[in-house]
Amino acid sequence: MTTILSEVHLHTPRILVVDDEARIRDACKMVLSDKGFDVEVAADGEVGLSMINKAHFDLVLVDLMMPTISGFDVLSEVRANHPDTVVIVITGYATLEHSIEAMKKGAFDFIPKPFTPDQLRAVVEKSLQYTRALQDIADSKSRLRVIVNRLTDGVMTTDAEKLIVQANPAFLHMIGYHGEDVLGRRVDEIISNENLLSGIDQVLVMEPDTFMEVASEIHLTNSGEDKILTARCTPFRGRTKENLGTVTVLHDITALKKMDQMKSDFVSMVSHEVRSPMNSLLMQLKNIKDGLAGDVTEKQVEILNRASEKILNLNNLVTELLDLSRIESGLIAHEKEQVNVAELLKELQTFHSPYALEKDITINLNCSQEYPSILANKQNMEEVFSNLITNGIKYSPDGATLTITADVENEYIKIQVKDTGYGMRPEDLEKIFTRFYRVKDSNTREIQGTGLGLSIVKSIIDTHHGNISVTSEIGQGTTFTVLLPLADT
Ligand code: ADP
Repeated sequence: MTTILSEVHLHTPRILVVDDEARIRDACKMVLSDKGFDVEVAADGEVGLSMINKAHFDLVLVDLMMPTISGFDVLSEVRANHPDTVVIVITGYATLEHSIEAMKKGAFDFIPKPFTPDQLRAVVEKSLQYTRALQDIADSKSRLRVIVNRLTDGVMTTDAEKLIVQANPAFLHMIGYHGEDVLGRRVDEIISNENLLSGIDQVLVMEPDTFMEVASEIHLTNSGEDKILTARCTPFRGRTKENLGTVTVLHDITALKKMDQMKSDFVSMVSHEVRSPMNSLLMQLKNIKDGLAGDVTEKQVEILNRASEKILNLNNLVTELLDLSRIESGLIAHEKEQVNVAELLKELQTFHSPYALEKDITINLNCSQEYPSILANKQNMEEVFSNLITNGIKYSPDGATLTITADVENEYIKIQVKDTGYGMRPEDLEKIFTRFYRVKDSNTREIQGTGLGLSIVKSIIDTHHGNISVTSEIGQGTTFTVLLPLADT
């Protein structure tokens, strides 16, 4: 960035020397042209000013004492109309008073007559560095303004007093503001959304050594249209880390939300529609098997059993899809109650043990009855731990062990389901919570499943503000760790 900026200003600086003494004009022109500057001269203030009004000069060297228009007048005129031009005054009598007065009127520097070529070069170089720095700042500011104004996300900055410093067109459009200029106005004059205002308040009172973003989802009605936006507010800090103001970024997620809702609706509609014909198919197969349509041979029963099993698997997939779409649309987790985790795990141990014993797998439970309860949807919790337990049994060879432990850790209850089964490779661990992901290796290829169980587990835990993690080692086994917040007592 810096390189580009300096390249931009590598044009030859243009200098104008205004002096009624030909000797001085010529000397300045010679010395400065030798340095590679583009130098022009004027013999009096009037000519000088008309040249300045016609073309831009980076620097004007002007003699204070000239007939007709004085150097002071040239200086005032340049300061008033050409803010990007720097003026250096040449003071004939080297009086301190004149120099001070010129500086007060906005001269950048002064150079007393007589001066040496080196003195002239030094003072000119210093002033040009200053103009370059000024120009860089002005360029960066205008570039930034263009970028921010062209963003499709809404951006607004305020100072520490909550006065608006900048608000791009996208921001004003999103909040439905089409009034007068908002610069310098208080945020609460143009924004009425409480969440947005409170986000700005929160970041302003943030401790200087903390950096946090306050993110929220806000709902606005804009010209009769409901909009859903994400709002992210961050503090804006000075060099000594003091709060200088806030930056708020708005992103319109209305379309995304609508699509998500449509997807969930579609999945639940399809699942419903598919389930009923499947159930009737199962019923009809059962009727045939039971001989209601005439005698059936043993071979035919075997085939009908296999067909029923396939339909049951399909039914499972549909049920899980339905569960997932219900959880995602937030339907399930709303009805919460006090759930005694120890009791729940005990029930699940009893329920799953017969199935585990078919594979000679024992389910151990290390859990005391005294844990505080959690506030959760009981059916959801059964689904979470049933899934983890059945997976532990499914993905373990005969004779493995399954151990369930529960402990209280800070504000959470920590439940671990540990098996001594096939285990998974590290690259699979990241993906198993993704919908439909199944690990297929020589041990697990034949095991039936949908790849939806763990994504349901994760969605449920997320809606309960908990966390799930997994560790695993091939041939050693897998441990799932669930953290769930304890109910406030
Ligand atoms: P499903 O069991 O229906 O395939 P899940 O979402 O429950 O779907 O699990 C996803 C994948 O994660 C499984 O296919 C399996 O490969 C792997 N997995 C889950 N639990 C275990 C476990 N305890 N041990 C080894 N692999 C597991």
